[in-house]
Amino acid sequence: MAARLVILGGGPGGYVAAIRAAGLGAAVTLVERARLGGTCLNRGCIPSKIMKTAAEHLEAVRNAGSFGLVVEGEARLDPAALQERKERILESQRRGIAGLLKKNKVRLVQGEARIEEGRVLVVRSPEGEETLSWDRLIIATGSRPLQISAFPFDGRRILSSDDALSLKEIPRSLVIVGGGVIGCEFACIFSSFGTAVTVVEALARPLPLPSVDEDSSKILLREMKKRKIRFIARRVVARVEEADGGLAVQLGPSPFVPDAGKAPADSVLTAEKLLVCVGRVPNTKGLGLAALGVETDGKGWIRVNDRMESSAAGVYAIGDVLGPERVMLAHVASHEGIVAAQNALGGSEVMDYGAVPGAIFTTPEVAGVGLTEKQASEDGWEVRSDTFLFRNIGKSQVIGEIAGQVKIVSERGTGRVLGVHMIGPRVTDLITEGVLAVQTECSVSDIARSIHPHPTLSEVMQEAAYKALDRGIHG
Ligand code: NAD
Repeated sequence: MAARLVILGGGPGGYVAAIRAAGLGAAVTLVERARLGGTCLNRGCIPSKIMKTAAEHLEAVRNAGSFGLVVEGEARLDPAALQERKERILESQRRGIAGLLKKNKVRLVQGEARIEEGRVLVVRSPEGEETLSWDRLIIATGSRPLQISAFPFDGRRILSSDDALSLKEIPRSLVIVGGGVIGCEFACIFSSFGTAVTVVEALARPLPLPSVDEDSSKILLREMKKRKIRFIARRVVARVEEADGGLAVQLGPSPFVPDAGKAPADSVLTAEKLLVCVGRVPNTKGLGLAALGVETDGKGWIRVNDRMESSAAGVYAIGDVLGPERVMLAHVASHEGIVAAQNALGGSEVMDYGAVPGAIFTTPEVAGVGLTEKQASEDGWEVRSDTFLFRNIGKSQVIGEIAGQVKIVSERGTGRVLGVHMIGPRVTDLITEGVLAVQTECSVSDIARSIHPHPTLSEVMQEAAYKALDRGIHG
């Protein structure tokens, strides 16, 4: 009899694991309480990129004059039309996932699952209850936005990232708490829509993640300033009060940095709305993990080994539910899902996080893979790093997007590529070459002798590689 594999959660971790497991011959049931596609499709990557695309088109029309075009009349956003477009795309993507599950003979059960003792779980839905037995279980229940208890989400003035994706009107002013990935992406989107945006970040720079190159943060800060986004570092929001039809937002020193920096002159900001993006919490509460003895950390994130197996034999976990100690990204969840499915069905695969690309959809975009200069030096590598500016290639000038650079971090002597870090136009697409370089441990000379097409943005990689060989051509 085929192994019975049950997967909890139909996001990019769970549904990919389901398809892979079905391909390996298991009898697969996928349980989902809401809509297929998880955070990524319904409240994350895809809807935010739909907003970003609208923002980019709006700016392109506003800048049409600089391309020799005449556009008459004012270009502006129609939030209702944007929401309609979003719903249309999401619905077609959800139908696509449902079709893939069907084609692969994965059974979809809609409802809320609770794990019971004895390798069974109960799924409750408005239609009733169903009990499922399993031989192997994969938990892919994801995460949701973390709220600050002093000013919890109300969906009206104090927004989560979920709320920000569904606004019927664009706020005139917005304070964003948290200058991490979500905060910086929304700052750029809303400023393109005409909102006056202020970001309050507890640490010292935008995108203060160890995986983000410090130069990328500096350039992003400069570009944000040009776009009139105010970025206040080393501060937290201490208190929020309703005032004059808006909010009074009281700032305070950050407990997360030793040097609290120079306090801004105005420590109370006013804004129509506040958007809180300070991280996420796991969807593990009420699942019944204790019945199986699945170990979690103090915050509820599930602990797994490098084969994605939890402390309970036969129970695997993947995706956001593993928390920020792993990498909370959709493409990582999918990869973990494949590893977990293969291991659940007799394989012996190890999840490798060495070449995970980061892709951040700010304006300009930020992307990276492998080690930063700082991380490589700390790990004991003899490092050199070589940068090349977008402004020095023809295609950048042609499209009118010249801000940014690519940096290749390599081992001195051998030229082995240890990391690639980019900020600039379309770098979330361009980073894939860096992923291949880091994954295959190739050298800067491999990149230099690979002919890159002209005129394209990809030329920055070849030019940076020439520089790493001390024979730069265009800069
Ligand atoms: P994050 O960890 O990227 O950023 C949170 C930021 O808030 C940090 O910079 C932190 O220093 C700051 N912060 C924390 N408490 C604060 C406070 N009280 N006041 C001010 N600042 C405070 O988290 P996020 O932006 O909420 O994103 C959540 C997850 O979603 C991340 O794991 C991220 O990788 C993922 N995500 C990824 C993408 C992408 O890759 N394009 C897009 C969206 C979300």
